[in-house]
Amino acid sequence: SKCIARYNNELHAKYIFEETLIHDLDEAIANKELKVYYQPKYSIVGEKPRLTSAEALVRWIHPKLGFINPGDFIPLFESNGLIRKVDNYVWKESAAQIRRWKDLYGESIPVSVNVSRINIMDPDLEAKLEDICSRYEISTSEIMLEVTESAYSENTNRLVEVVDKLRKNGFRIEMDDFGAGYSSLNMITTVPVDVLKIDMSFVRNMEKDECNLKLVKIIIEIAKFLKIPSVAEGVETESQLNMLKQMGCDIIQGYYFSKPVPAMDFAPFIEREISAKNLKKGE
Ligand code: C2E
Ligand code: CA
Ligand code: CA
Repeated sequence: SKCIARYNNELHAKYIFEETLIHDLDEAIANKELKVYYQPKYSIVGEKPRLTSAEALVRWIHPKLGFINPGDFIPLFESNGLIRKVDNYVWKESAAQIRRWKDLYGESIPVSVNVSRINIMDPDLEAKLEDICSRYEISTSEIMLEVTESAYSENTNRLVEVVDKLRKNGFRIEMDDFGAGYSSLNMITTVPVDVLKIDMSFVRNMEKDECNLKLVKIIIEIAKFLKIPSVAEGVETESQLNMLKQMGCDIIQGYYFSKPVPAMDFAPFIEREISAKNLKKGE
């Protein structure tokens, strides 16, 4: 009976936590308690890694509950549809940031935003994204859309339609968590995508497990076959980076370069990239 009591208490605590998040979301958006962090992506094709873009990842700095990771509220908001509000906010913030960096540095740093599977079903998705781009005067090619592979297997026909339209309007689509979903391999030839992101679990385990290493190789080969770049995320060590480079992976994202950071702390990455470019020009 003690066990049952504790079980009930835990369930109750979770219920209270979730109800609080649901209740507070609108206020959090209005007060900008949701913060967009940026993680750099580096091309490793050449001799030296080059900054190519960033991924926008949301955090919630709650006045009472403190720092909350997306893993603690994204699934909840996906289950009740509120994710649309979160994503919309993140897209706007990211577009505003792209604009700011452009004005500040005269360079475009494309930002990838996550598009939840729920948004794929939204008939206004394209209009919303275009509206944001025009409001912040950025081009549709500067905001890249990450869609998780499992969203593809859920409703392939609908997805092909949505993705087609978005791409015709200049948006680029990244297939996130590739290899972790349950899509048929055939799907990848019917749904046009612009970038393939290898699921992080394969990268994490590739050094200790032959199967994971093989899967990473296969995914990189698939990307090459499709003539699109492959991205490895969750790269934490130099040895992982070297292995990926040797296998022909194009772009790296992970703690090896940086954790996701607030926009202010991302500036040095851009400045370093610009001075590297200028150095090259002066050669
Ligand atoms: P994801 O899109 O697959 O993002 C990658 C996650 O891996 C991020 O976790 C990132 O911080 C983490 N990561 C990056 N490099 C490393 C590394 O080297 N080592 C380790 N251990 N982790 C690394 P995060 O920020 O906690 O986000 C978790 C998930 O929440 C994301 O997975 C994404 O599915 C979702 N998410 C985050 N922000 C948003 C958003 O604005 N909208 C939607 N719809 N989902 C979001
Ligand atoms: Ca992502
Ligand atoms: Ca991912």
